[in-house]
Amino acid sequence: MSAKPKVAFFSFTGCEGCQLAVLELEPVLLDILGAVDIVSFREAMTEHSEDYEIAFVEGSISTPHDVEEVQHIRQRAGLVVAIGACACSGGLNALKNRRGMDDVLQTVYGSSGSWFETIPARPVSAVVPVDLELPGCPMDGNEFVWAVKSLLRGEMPKLPQIPVCVECRLKGNVCVLAHKGKHCQGPITIAGCGAICPSHGGHCVGCRGYLAHPERDAHMEILQEHGLTVDEVRAQYSLFNTYSEMAREAAS
Ligand code: SF4
Ligand code: SF4
Repeated sequence: MSAKPKVAFFSFTGCEGCQLAVLELEPVLLDILGAVDIVSFREAMTEHSEDYEIAFVEGSISTPHDVEEVQHIRQRAGLVVAIGACACSGGLNALKNRRGMDDVLQTVYGSSGSWFETIPARPVSAVVPVDLELPGCPMDGNEFVWAVKSLLRGEMPKLPQIPVCVECRLKGNVCVLAHKGKHCQGPITIAGCGAICPSHGGHCVGCRGYLAHPERDAHMEILQEHGLTVDEVRAQYSLFNTYSEMAREAAS
């Protein structure tokens, strides 16, 4: 990698909130701009170059054109980093995958549905090899900075395989699963967000994706003890993780 690597940001299907998370890094944004050469970033600049070493890719892949485009990016970039839940797991966009695509097009575009093309939403890694995934909805800005610093040092960052509960307990939060019966997915979700949702009165919705070996049965039992039916628990699991849930169902 060159001393000041050329970096590009790309966006597929998503709300572009992850690119916004980068722009919101105001205190350190100038430092980042001093260390890299940003050659493409639709949300922040009009210039675009096809010459880049690191591609940050936001959004899920959900059209045939997206497939071609991300393959093109993979061919040009030395490193491809997926940013945000949409790019890392398919995210909320994959909720449509349980329906027929014609049905989806008609719901969104009515009688003009045939003008558009769509495919089941999938993570970037389902189409091309991905070097690093920075999950979350949106991606955590601090984690992005940490990852960029590591890449600039020539190191590949490795996300810890610990559950959100660890960060939540370290913050001294009252557990909303144990004490309020909220369907918190913290026990099976990858940490790194600082347990932001349980820390603000909410519950973890699993936007960072699940641990490699989650204790799903135990988690499901607890949720059922709080009165949720199996279908309701599965619906919760599918919120951000429909793509992996459908793959798991197909394999079982
Ligand atoms: S992960 Fe969330 S914030 Fe990022 S593009 Fe998708 S919907 Fe938007
Ligand atoms: S509130 Fe959620 S994330 Fe926090 S300890 Fe309880 S189950 Fe884990």
